[in-house]
Amino acid sequence: MKREFAVIGLGRFGGSICQELSREGMEVLAIDNDEDKVNEFKNIASHAVIADSTDEASLKELGIKNIDHVIVAIGDNIQASILTTVILTDLGIKKITVKAQNDYHEKILNRIGANTVVHPERDMGKRIAHSIISNNILDYLELSDDHSIVEVKAGKRMVGKSVVELDIRANYGCNVVAIKQGKQINVSPGPTDVLYEGDILIVVGADKDISRFEKHLV
Ligand code: ADP
Repeated sequence: MKREFAVIGLGRFGGSICQELSREGMEVLAIDNDEDKVNEFKNIASHAVIADSTDEASLKELGIKNIDHVIVAIGDNIQASILTTVILTDLGIKKITVKAQNDYHEKILNRIGANTVVHPERDMGKRIAHSIISNNILDYLELSDDHSIVEVKAGKRMVGKSVVELDIRANYGCNVVAIKQGKQINVSPGPTDVLYEGDILIVVGADKDISRFEKHLV
């Protein structure tokens, strides 16, 4: 069954969400107050309409109430983003995802009832910083203030050894949740699985433990 989404704001972020949802076969209502942006998405989204999302009547007219999940991707205009979110909450939209521009904006959005607040620039900046610091860290995802999940290349000290020999959990307190070997992914690595050169480990744990693991083994 197709699920219904609405994306408000068709800039780089909202535009890319809209494109990907549509590519995945989802029903997407694309909304922007800029006619050129709407025209760009006419052939991509199921429906693309010009509307000002800070106008409650316009949103009602579009039938936004029947939509499962609304994504608010209004960029610099924080006031419009907040007002749109308040209107969507008042209309009883069950899932509202909003892009925050800064920490204050994020705090307000959480307070006024956004279900999910995303911070793509900040998060991507952190991920890139981690891969710049260590050549072996390919990707990084923050789970909480002090826990993360990282993708690391198997270091020289790991190659040829089995998971049990390295005993990463006991020695470093972090867990290897998956091992990628070329196009294959082993999502439940066993103790006797041996690591090869070029393998990529997906490791979850406290930042301080991951950092120790990386310094000693990668
Ligand atoms: P990004 O950083 O993701 O590129 P932008 O600020 O460029 O974000 O894009 C935000 C989009 O949101 C723009 O296309 C803009 O026209 C749209 N937008 C801003 N305010 C409103 C509003 N009140 N109603 C509908 N769309 C809006």
